[in-house]
Amino acid sequence: MELWIATGNKGKLAEYKLLLREIADLKVFSQGDLPSFTPRPEDGKTFEENARIKAKTLRAVKNNVWVLGEDAGLVVEGLGGLPGIHSARYAGPKASDSENVAKLLKMMTLKPIQNRNAKFVCTTVVYTPAGEEWIFTGELKGVIASKPAGLHGFGYDPVFVPEGQTQTLAEIGSGYKSQHSHRSQALRAFLERLQASAQ
Ligand code: IMP
Repeated sequence: MELWIATGNKGKLAEYKLLLREIADLKVFSQGDLPSFTPRPEDGKTFEENARIKAKTLRAVKNNVWVLGEDAGLVVEGLGGLPGIHSARYAGPKASDSENVAKLLKMMTLKPIQNRNAKFVCTTVVYTPAGEEWIFTGELKGVIASKPAGLHGFGYDPVFVPEGQTQTLAEIGSGYKSQHSHRSQALRAFLERLQASAQ
């Protein structure tokens, strides 16, 4: 079976490949494997709408295979839910991960914000080869650290300390995310449904 992941985010794709590496007969591809691909603007108002935009855009050029679109982001309580669906572009349209992290920490010191509770959320929209839509979600609660630490992962991992942990995701490393992350939860739910549908 071919599963096409609708993402251009290298960190995200690496996590999917790690999570799916031991599944027999599953070949993972992404939009980067196509000779040319133009993503559509993510102009949805929710994670689900943006995940659907990504999946539909890839499905328009790659049908009769499994297609997975995912939108994820960081929801910070003390910032009224920001950066939320704007997580990838929080510091500007072409912002790097470190620029986004710097803006987040700046926003939290400007006021300053005492409530550092946050969560990563992930919504996944999957299209079956026949075009049926399946939706899955996952979330990981934690707090925002006062400064970045660690080298693993991507995005806001260097400033996110999961509930019950003392280190950031970027310090803890990929094993923890494979077990507990918002992305791995949503993906496991998909794999369970896939297995159930095959029986
Ligand atoms: P997307 O590719 O539009 O879903 O953008 C998601 C953005 O949210 C990423 O660019 C990261 O900034 C952030 N993000 C999502 N998932 C994670 C994660 O697992 N770790 C760190 N940051 C994440």
